[in-house]
Amino acid sequence: MRKRIAILGSTGSIGTQALEVISENSDYFEVEVLTANKNADLLISQAKKYLPNTVIIADESKYKKVSSELSKFPIKIFAGTKSIEQIVESSEIDIVLTAIVGYAGLISTINAIKAQKTIALANKETLVVAGELISKLTLKHKANIIPVDSEHSAIFQCLVGETHNKIDKLILTASGGPFREKNTNFLKNVTIEQALNHPNWSMGNKITIDSATLMNKGLELIEAKWLFDVPTEKIEIVIHPQSIIHSLVQFEDGSLKAQLGLPDMKIPIQYALSFPNRIKNKFKKFSFNDFNTLTFEKPNKTKFKCLNIAIESIKKAGNTPCVMNAANEVAVSAFLNKKIKFLQIPEIIEQTILKTDYIKKPDLTDYINSNKKATEIAQLLIK
Ligand code: NDP
Repeated sequence: MRKRIAILGSTGSIGTQALEVISENSDYFEVEVLTANKNADLLISQAKKYLPNTVIIADESKYKKVSSELSKFPIKIFAGTKSIEQIVESSEIDIVLTAIVGYAGLISTINAIKAQKTIALANKETLVVAGELISKLTLKHKANIIPVDSEHSAIFQCLVGETHNKIDKLILTASGGPFREKNTNFLKNVTIEQALNHPNWSMGNKITIDSATLMNKGLELIEAKWLFDVPTEKIEIVIHPQSIIHSLVQFEDGSLKAQLGLPDMKIPIQYALSFPNRIKNKFKKFSFNDFNTLTFEKPNKTKFKCLNIAIESIKKAGNTPCVMNAANEVAVSAFLNKKIKFLQIPEIIEQTILKTDYIKKPDLTDYINSNKKATEIAQLLIK
């Protein structure tokens, strides 16, 4: 039987690549649900091509356009955030691919967990905001989370067959982003175009800026802690500019297992959808003829303050990672809209954390309120 996939965020970088994977493997997968925020045109053309059962546009002002364009097709059309949050409970869905960017993906992920779906998780911010809660809910509802993020997919793949063996250390690799070799003086005046020019990966704007500030690696460290139940002290970050080794696990006997491949998100997306099986594909394969050197270096936490802020935030725990994430979302958006400079991103985050009330044991309502409060504070700071 073909697996029925709901792609939340089908118009984004992960969403469109997931549709490519599904097209290539139509014997294994079919599209059940597609959702977008505002990009009605792309959502409509995806719906016409993949004929899902349901299409949802979060922006309600776009409902008329989507429904009139798709009126001749046997597709149910809904609008609004609530519809996305509810659709994940449908009994017609086998796998929910969470490819919405940012905090906006939190509630739909929680609802998918409660509905005991298999979740192919790309939306790392969900685990940053509410990792402890998500972990508890996943255990309680016996849901499966399969990571899509390449580093976490690598670790997940290294852990297959190792259920009873203790992890000594996780090693997350990082490309280092476009400014790895630049000095702080250069960072003062970087342009949006320079920051969006990632050396190895083509991704959505938010994660590309997060990669340039190294916040992305901080978010991934928090994501790894919750996904694999490993304390942060046992997660090491290594800069590996070629992005061939996607991450490693060290076991108690000193053995290291790594997963390698070309930097192509279609590989971890396909693995998350096909797990526990692997499917033959036509994606370009790694060859040592193209890479005769793989290099490694330590991350510079003084130059890339965001990495340190993320590490400190998970040490402080409580609602701090949630607050940090909200401030980062606001700051990245302000940078992309030319309202602040690149080096002001960590400043906004640090000040927002200082100005937001600390909650030691937050529940879902506390996370929702902390996100709202921190967003307002960060927006005021930018003004
Ligand atoms: P994009 O910005 O390219 O796409 C985001 C998707 O989410 C779009 O479909 C967008 O719709 C939708 N969306 C945005 N805001 C909302 C909202 N408020 N409500 C509903 N839908 C919304 O992001 P990426 O694909 O790059 O990233 C998605 C997630 O995957 C992120 O959490 C990222 O960290 C993670 N990830 C991404 C990787 C990559 O290679 N891109 C790699 C590893 C992880 P619309 O198009 O209409 O705006």
